[in-house]
Amino acid sequence: MTEFTLEKGADGVAIITWDLPGKSMNVLTLEGAQQLDAAIDDALADDAVKGIVITSGKDSFAAGMDLNVLAGMKDSGAQGVFDGVMSLHHMLRKIERAGMEPKTNKGGKPIAAALPGTAMGIGLELPLACHRIFAADNPKARIGLPEIMVGIFPGSGGTTRLVRKLGVMGASQYLLQGKSVDPKKAKSAGLIDEVAEDPVAAAKEWVLSEPKIVKPWDEKGFKLPGGAPYHPAGFQTFVGANAMVNGQTWGAFPAPKALLSAVYEGAMVPFDTALKIEARWFTSVIMNPSSGAMIRSLFLNKEALEKGANRPEAPDQTVKKVGVMGAGMMGAGIALVSAQAGIEVVLIDQKQEAADKGKAYAESYFEKGIKRGKSTPEKAEAVLSKITATTDYSALSDADLIIEAVFEDVGVKAEVTKNVEAVVPEDCIFATNTSTLPITDLAKASKRPEQFIGIHFFSPVEKMLLVEIIKGAETGDRAVAKALDYVRQIRKTPIVVNDARFFYANRCIIPYLNEGARMVAEGVEPVLVDNAARLLGMPVGPLQLIDETSIDLAVKIAKATKEALGDKYPSDNKPVDDLMFALYDQGRLGRKSNAGFYSYDDKGKREGIWDGLDDLTPTLDDQPDLIEVQHRLMFAQVLEAVRALEEGVLEDIREGDVGAILGWGFAPWSGGPFSWLDILGAEYAAERCDQLAQKFGPRFSCPDLLREMASKGQSFYGRFGQDAKAA
Ligand code: NAD
Repeated sequence: MTEFTLEKGADGVAIITWDLPGKSMNVLTLEGAQQLDAAIDDALADDAVKGIVITSGKDSFAAGMDLNVLAGMKDSGAQGVFDGVMSLHHMLRKIERAGMEPKTNKGGKPIAAALPGTAMGIGLELPLACHRIFAADNPKARIGLPEIMVGIFPGSGGTTRLVRKLGVMGASQYLLQGKSVDPKKAKSAGLIDEVAEDPVAAAKEWVLSEPKIVKPWDEKGFKLPGGAPYHPAGFQTFVGANAMVNGQTWGAFPAPKALLSAVYEGAMVPFDTALKIEARWFTSVIMNPSSGAMIRSLFLNKEALEKGANRPEAPDQTVKKVGVMGAGMMGAGIALVSAQAGIEVVLIDQKQEAADKGKAYAESYFEKGIKRGKSTPEKAEAVLSKITATTDYSALSDADLIIEAVFEDVGVKAEVTKNVEAVVPEDCIFATNTSTLPITDLAKASKRPEQFIGIHFFSPVEKMLLVEIIKGAETGDRAVAKALDYVRQIRKTPIVVNDARFFYANRCIIPYLNEGARMVAEGVEPVLVDNAARLLGMPVGPLQLIDETSIDLAVKIAKATKEALGDKYPSDNKPVDDLMFALYDQGRLGRKSNAGFYSYDDKGKREGIWDGLDDLTPTLDDQPDLIEVQHRLMFAQVLEAVRALEEGVLEDIREGDVGAILGWGFAPWSGGPFSWLDILGAEYAAERCDQLAQKFGPRFSCPDLLREMASKGQSFYGRFGQDAKAA
């Protein structure tokens, strides 16, 4: 298969064109790398060739590395990864040196990259090794190094070159945050050199102009922009970068740490040694199970779910007009994201003022965006004109989807369902955004339960990426397809689950919150509880999260669950309930009342653990060790995920993992609850369950499924996983 072609022009310019057959975007394969290497050798050796331009046959340049290459390297062990990475370094270094004499930097042929569009990952690392980068003026193109977002870092010289090009400060947002920008911004940031109408023509002209090609870092006396680690300015940068990274990640993520080490150590040695250091750190990250799990969940499986991996066979269900019932916090957000996707929205509330208030939410969202330069009045108007705020149900007569977000009350929801069904077309799908009420029960109010479904958003709607789709007992395939097509339109990630108390995400997060509160009730230092969670890579500790979601909500859920479960309500919840009710009785409702587990200043800034908490539940002299606290918090969540799988609420572990990370921020470095258990190994996990259950109670009992897997030596991805080997 030809992936790179070499064409030598009469003008002395050799054009190397990257065009991976059968794919809409180029990714670098092993075969491709060999072909590129051979093409470079050929062009460098040919006296008739004066300069080289590397471009793409597609409308983008490249999306990055073929993940199978990484998986293949990993199978060959650490040495295999290191050798593979070093051979890429050699090729890129050959491009960069382009035949120059080692000592004098004389000779050599100019090599330019011409990017017609997006250039990400290795798709930018290759151009960074060239002598000049030209990009088309294509505002939709993205240029950047997003590796860090899937648990690795740029390991084909991108780290070492970008730091030398932009300095540590300048490179940090691209390396540490994986930020990508359009070509114009990439030029002003110094990521690329020129934006041109015809990048190939501009690159050709440049290579024929006998330009200077030696890179600054290959010249004598090169100094790192902004200062190397032991330069006074550089010293400050490194101290700051270390503090920032550890402040954000709490040391839980292997890739940012490895990246920082590669940058720091690499900055003190010559370029070629720095590449070797980069390769060693990259190898350590690839060999860490976290990177494979993150790539699997946050890249491969997230994308598979977004593309409809679990969509039933049904004709296209693209939504044209959605009716949003209830213009409160959730309804307002749902209206906004739907209108942004180009869908007509009817936003209905009981009173016109309430409906208008819901639309005003979208207005203020755009006002803020315009102030920050992220939107324009024209864009705002185009979206806002799609939202009709009204009390008039007749506006729903041509809606093809309804999303109900009225009060969490069976009676109110039933009445809305009936009234809506009286006016909408027969084939309209009705979705409820309930967070706690069983879909099958709510569907009883519907004349068409097969067209009734749950579409559960997370708050704030415009920020949260996950949408949980819940099938009631009678929900039909077309309703599921409609929900999935809608979620695709609004560019979020769907998971599809069956109907059960709290569905999937809330079902797993409630035990996490309860376990945190329970430990405080037992006398564990509250700071230990929340910090243990942060050190695991959870974005928010359980006590802080209770404050954020509000203590009155926790009390309400506890009361409702008690009512629903009766005698089956777990008796070991009592200490948690007692503590929450005590806080509630004192008016400590969490952040919204500026008082909860934490105290807050007048402006709502969190100060520290409320000093009265110790009177409510005194802390013990003997504190548990960190791992025990962490395991209680983790097992509380993951065992619930396993039970959801055992009970058939979850049908696909990929959804369980992706949903956990996007829905409640479950330690992303782990790849999700099932990936975390796979990292631990079923045997150890089962053993740990037994120990925790014996010490803390039956809520930690090992689920039968996990026990069986432990006895058979199985992993979740080995047993259930599609794409189990993908990363
Ligand atoms: P909210 O109280 O902010 O808004 C509810 C809105 O519904 C109010 O504006 C109210 O006037 C309107 N309403 C009530 N009865 C109505 C009727 N008969 N016809 C039209 N409008 C009516 O509540 P919310 O937080 O937006 O929650 C709405 C739904 O979303 C609930 O079912 C809730 O459980 C669910 N939910 C909430 C969250 C969250 O974090 N708040 C998250 C996921 C799901």
